[in-house]
Amino acid sequence: MAPVPSKVRRKLEWLFLRAEGAFLDDAVLTAEGAHLEPLEARARLREGKENEEALRALEWLGRLEHLERALDGDAERRRTYLEQYGAVGVQRFRAGTETRIYCLSVETFPRHINNVYVVLEPGSALMLDCGSDLPTSRRDLALGFAVVRALFHEDVRYEALDWCVISHAHYDHFGGANAIKRETRAHLAVHELDARVLSGFDERLVVVSKDIDVYLRRAGIDDEKRAELLALYTAHKTMFAAVKVDRVLRDGDQIGPGYRVHHVPGHCPGLICLQVHDVLLTSDHVLARITPHQFPQAITPFAGLEHFFHSLAKIRKVEGINYALGGHEEPIWDLRARIDGIANFHRQRLGRVLEVCDVPRTVLGVADALFGPQEGYGFLLAIEEAGAHVEYLHNLGKLRIANLDEVATSRDPVIEYVVRK
Ligand SMILES: [Zn+2]
Ligand SMILES: [Zn+2]
Repeated sequence: MAPVPSKVRRKLEWLFLRAEGAFLDDAVLTAEGAHLEPLEARARLREGKENEEALRALEWLGRLEHLERALDGDAERRRTYLEQYGAVGVQRFRAGTETRIYCLSVETFPRHINNVYVVLEPGSALMLDCGSDLPTSRRDLALGFAVVRALFHEDVRYEALDWCVISHAHYDHFGGANAIKRETRAHLAVHELDARVLSGFDERLVVVSKDIDVYLRRAGIDDEKRAELLALYTAHKTMFAAVKVDRVLRDGDQIGPGYRVHHVPGHCPGLICLQVHDVLLTSDHVLARITPHQFPQAITPFAGLEHFFHSLAKIRKVEGINYALGGHEEPIWDLRARIDGIANFHRQRLGRVLEVCDVPRTVLGVADALFGPQEGYGFLLAIEEAGAHVEYLHNLGKLRIANLDEVATSRDPVIEYVVRK
């Protein structure tokens, strides 16, 4: 059967989420769930051959039947549905003997979904990440907490969290930190290498924009295109006001009732995984389906593939993990197998970069060869991803600069790389 395009998958996930709104009572539906319109969503889930085919390919036809039966009465079916699939974007997981981990599905950018985790045990309420500051993100967080209270019967409120731990300083994970400070009593914690992004955001935005500009110029991107990319990069991000970080985290620290911090630089300098008893919250270090985006440490120190590989190996050795929950997408039931899959993927991509650099190429040329034509933000991501691989191979001496004389004499050189034979 043909794989389901991610656009279709997202649409169906969204329809399930809205249809499950029928589990909620009117008070929640008119307040936090006003956008759900579960009746309409339920009808749309059932309509059309295209939906049916996609549901079958995803093995979600059973889920739809289960949902129909659960909604039409029977409390037991309702309970088993909630346990198996969660509802309205909220899924419950368990860790250790009495810890509940709620995964809240939060739209942080248009059609970009983050998992925000609320970890509860007696005397402790900790949230990992806080979404962005977009209205959809705030809406989904409010709804998520309402669902945790209404359907899972937890006595927890956003305003009364003890900790908000930021897994790393990417905007979809920390952009809601201003609201956390304003509206909750939670203390804010982040790894020491990412703390400055939150506490000195304005400086960070300026400096990184300059570094990206230099990088893109050397990568072979012309003035006009660079201006366009920089505008894209800084869009969304100018609203954030610097916040005070209450605690900086370091590798091996414990937070809350003994959750362990594992520092895993690579995808982001201050990225952490948080170990909650036998469950590892991996954020963007390990994801179930996509491979976490890589970018060169020429733009940001402690990023880059060398760190990423090292951090993958480090997490692979952590004992006592039953399963993992990522910052996006679904749970990772076999963490070590997934780590191996991701490492292999990058090894293959490195091999591919060596192949295409049989002739001299700029980073732009490598990105074109790897990903084909890209537009907008996708273009920036392609350059960063290609750049991380080129940089790694160059650091290892497997690529060399092909136009060294030009680089030596030009003020603004574009660098070309070629395989060192
Ligand atoms: Zn990230
Ligand atoms: Zn992310």
